[in-house]
Amino acid sequence: MNDTMVDGFGRRIEYLRISVTDKCNLRCVYCMPMEGLPWLKRAEILSYEEIVEIVRVMAGMGLKRVRLTGGEPLIRRDLHKLVAGLRAVPGIENIALSTNAVLLDEQAESLRDAGVDRVNISLDSLRPERVERIARRPGSFEKIMAGLAAAERVGFEPLKVNVVLMRGENDDEIESFAELTRTNPWHVRFIEVMPTGSNLQLSADQFLSCDEALERLRRVERLEPTEGPTGNGPAAYYRYPGAPGTIGVITPMSHNFCGACNRMRLTADGQLRPCLFGAIQTNLRDPLRAGEDLVPLIEHTLRIKPERHYLEQGSDVGSGGLVALSQTGG
Ligand code: SAM
Ligand code: SF4
Repeated sequence: MNDTMVDGFGRRIEYLRISVTDKCNLRCVYCMPMEGLPWLKRAEILSYEEIVEIVRVMAGMGLKRVRLTGGEPLIRRDLHKLVAGLRAVPGIENIALSTNAVLLDEQAESLRDAGVDRVNISLDSLRPERVERIARRPGSFEKIMAGLAAAERVGFEPLKVNVVLMRGENDDEIESFAELTRTNPWHVRFIEVMPTGSNLQLSADQFLSCDEALERLRRVERLEPTEGPTGNGPAAYYRYPGAPGTIGVITPMSHNFCGACNRMRLTADGQLRPCLFGAIQTNLRDPLRAGEDLVPLIEHTLRIKPERHYLEQGSDVGSGGLVALSQTGG
């Protein structure tokens, strides 16, 4: 067996984003409809043992890093047990988590002890009422702040804060978010909103490019291009002179970044997706449950990984029928 995974365009794939649930305790306006989605049934969802087995097979093919995401990963019971299982897989060097942080305060210690190395926290505003309007869950702000503090307390490093840019909603806070990097060693990353079936109006009307955000930040002070934290994927990073933290931009819409793509995705129901968008996926769950060899299926998925995504502003054509990023793990 080959121990590196290289796709048809010469990209080395070492990173798997694993969605552990399609459900969420928030309803972010750009992500999920207020009423939720038709959730997967329990029997459809991979068990922790099944996830670990898939990762074990992929680690034998060259996988080195995983990220747990969702939906909201922390709502899945005993997530730390999955982390411990993944930690024991030979070849897996790094385990990361993407979370809205609502439940992080209570789980941070057990997750760190089980082996989570680093955390990305979604935070779209620094104002309580705004956070709760965007997340459409009253009372969430305080918990998120406690989660952020817990991430620092237990030493998750690097700590990344993800901010989805929305004109007329949080664009007046771009400078405030950037200021955080002068006093905290955080990586604040601005993300361009991507169109999916459930946010077509918002993603067209409120789109704001990262170039515009950077232009505004340069009016405050010169920004220096800089190295990002380890494990950086598609983000480009900058720093205010002398600041301990960095400012990252993730530009799926204005600058296609697919040339540097290093990842595949595993959905909660065991579909291996070579790209966040598009309809291509390989069912690993049923063959796994039938005791079949997964290696040829993974190799096939690698071979058909598309060169790039074909998202277009105001259209869900390129998203391959995706209603919300929560369905594939973002
Ligand atoms: N619930 C976790 C969270 O919010 O961090 C993990 C899953 S969430 C789908 C992963 C990331 O995708 C978050 O940073 C979220 O802000 C981002 N996201 C969701 N929908 C998006 C969209 N339509 N465009 C851009 N980013 C989006
Ligand atoms: Fe939930 Fe994350 Fe989607 Fe917000 S972005 S609704 S926290 S999955």
